[in-house]
Amino acid sequence: MGEKRFSGRRVVVTGSARGIGRATAERFAEDGAAVAVVDLDAATAAATAAEIAATYETQAVGIACDVSVRESVEAMAEEVAQRLGGIDVLVNNAGVTRDNLIHKMEDEDWDLVMGVHLRGAFLCTRAAQRHMVRQNYGKICNISSTSALGNRGQVNYSTAKAGLQGFTRSLALELGRFNINVNAVAPGFIDTEMTQLTARRLGHEPEAYRQMRAKTIAIGRVGVPRDVANLVCFLCSDEAGFVNGQVVYASGGPETRRG
Ligand code: NAP
Repeated sequence: MGEKRFSGRRVVVTGSARGIGRATAERFAEDGAAVAVVDLDAATAAATAAEIAATYETQAVGIACDVSVRESVEAMAEEVAQRLGGIDVLVNNAGVTRDNLIHKMEDEDWDLVMGVHLRGAFLCTRAAQRHMVRQNYGKICNISSTSALGNRGQVNYSTAKAGLQGFTRSLALELGRFNINVNAVAPGFIDTEMTQLTARRLGHEPEAYRQMRAKTIAIGRVGVPRDVANLVCFLCSDEAGFVNGQVVYASGGPETRRG
């Protein structure tokens, strides 16, 4: 088999047992990377990794980790380094929503969302950059969201996703000198379990909700996980070596003010 875009690269994607994370791990594997499928549940992470390894004939390992817990993240990074031989790429994708209007939002809804998105990205990045700095090579991609621009019922999620944009820019300034690129992708509506859950919470059938949302998107359809995966892979490739500290929206149109 010839050289592929990510041959020899070791890639960690958090929250990759399903959804956008899974599609991203698959896309890297398709282009030759060894991938670590990191997710809360050991069995689903292992099952996804096994399917990826079989489909793309590359190394894929499933690792259980709660990205919001320091000990769990440190152990995960150590295991990846041992099993894959190092870390070249980190995609901070793990995410949760706990939507509610501010007057109904519980402390736990705020803390959980901040913990997974912000503390999670911080802990994973701090652990991964040790390997990247040592080897003078690395790529980090954070998954933000169009919700960063404001979204009713999502003050916690919106704040976390906007926070990840500042995190991206500051890290790019700190880590650039070690040949580490840090960028963010901000998806719009992508059809995953997360958005199917949102549809049901708002009292819609997922298919009807998808059609309704598609009408508001310039390109005329909702996104699929691979739309995000393609962009993440480009930003983590050497072709994008001079792109650093950027937030790229993948939302089927320019972002305009809503509401
Ligand atoms: P998803 O289908 O819900 O997948 C999220 C994954 O993250 C799940 O496998 C989940 O595991 C895992 N996860 C949750 N908490 C975790 C933790 N503490 N540690 C490790 N893994 C954890 O969501 P998705 O739609 O693919 O979203 C992926 C990312 O894209 C998220 O950051 C999300 O905010 C962002 N995003 C999504 C959209 C969209 O329209 N779908 C738009 C913009 C941005 P469990 O299954 O065990 O909970």
